[in-house]
Amino acid sequence: MFNKNTITRFEQLETPFYYYDLNVLSKTLEACRTASSKYGFHVHYAMKANFNPKVLDTIQSYGFGADCVSGNEVKAAVEHGFGKEKIVFAGVGKSDKEINAALDADIFCFNAESVQELFIINDLAKAKNKKAGIAIRINPNVDAHTHHFITTGLEENKFGINSWQLPDVAEALRKCPNLQFLGIHFHIGSQITDMEVYKSLCTRINEMQDWFVDHGFEVKILNTGGGLGVDYHNPDTNSISDFESYFKVFSNFLNVKPGQEVHFELGRALVAQCSALISRVLYVKNGLKKNFLILDAGMTELIRPMLYQAYHQIENLSRESGSNEPEKPAVHYDIVGPICESTDCFQKDVELQQSFRGDLIAVRTAGAYGEVMASGYNLRDRVGSVYSNPVL
Ligand SMILES: *Cc1c(COP(=O)(O)O)cnc(C)c1O
Repeated sequence: MFNKNTITRFEQLETPFYYYDLNVLSKTLEACRTASSKYGFHVHYAMKANFNPKVLDTIQSYGFGADCVSGNEVKAAVEHGFGKEKIVFAGVGKSDKEINAALDADIFCFNAESVQELFIINDLAKAKNKKAGIAIRINPNVDAHTHHFITTGLEENKFGINSWQLPDVAEALRKCPNLQFLGIHFHIGSQITDMEVYKSLCTRINEMQDWFVDHGFEVKILNTGGGLGVDYHNPDTNSISDFESYFKVFSNFLNVKPGQEVHFELGRALVAQCSALISRVLYVKNGLKKNFLILDAGMTELIRPMLYQAYHQIENLSRESGSNEPEKPAVHYDIVGPICESTDCFQKDVELQQSFRGDLIAVRTAGAYGEVMASGYNLRDRVGSVYSNPVL
């Protein structure tokens, strides 16, 4: 990801910033498109993972649809050229304003997350004399075996409609002439690397599909959600997720009827590896028990380690072997940010070559849920973005 020229370029720039390697992004998108098109599967990009304009333009250019979770994301999808017939809108708390904006944009489908929401969408669609496409987000009660903060498909989670509520859903759909039932939707969590989890999901989807068919509904769409994980420990040697195995599980275990479409909503797996947070060492603090590297980036630029105890590989670009520097002995550092919170720590006990003020530090695999979660806490400057290739 970083050659000598890139690092020389970084030395001229103000830090911190997100560095985007658009080549890595393109390779990832290509791999996903190849693997999914083998089965005729449709992939929507989960925009909340990263809505950097250049990232969106690149993803759009590969023909993916957009999975949005707010009215503004729907607007951004339209502005970046995602076809309205490829835009879906999920979210447990869609406001009237957001629903109206999505109705005005004539999006393909609302993924509805409660019976009450069905009636609200119906009323708002009726006022505009429109019909809203609807998929029912069902909580399948499948354990994603991922961090509990990013599990979404268990009954204890707020997302989706539980299966015991389906009779109410059926009744609501029959009472709502301004809704058009399209299919069923699932999303069980994020950073899932165990394919057995997706196999269990397929079993549940098949059962739910049978329920709807038995109750007289035509199921046109099976939307399996997203959540495919990436390798945070090997960003260079394993930079592209195993899309082949992922789509194969669904092809093998999902009961797809003739004419039915299978939809996916991938976020992290498409964008995580294409970006790194680049920062500089401000201070080196040597204690009796601990050494600290204090960076000019913190939880205001990348909050995943503090929010989910997420692991990101950390590298000192100024001291990597290959640079002209003589090898210095390795030291253990707690890598921390400048923010006035004790939780503002990227990682404890990281072994790096001895590091100095001004060294460039890369926090890898930061393309998903990184820049988009940046905040202005402590009245910090907004984090910048730098791109590998000439701007598109
Ligand atoms: C966040 C989200 C996704 C994408 O999840 P990833 O783990 O980034 O693939 C897909 N669908 C819905 C409904 C989401 O909320």
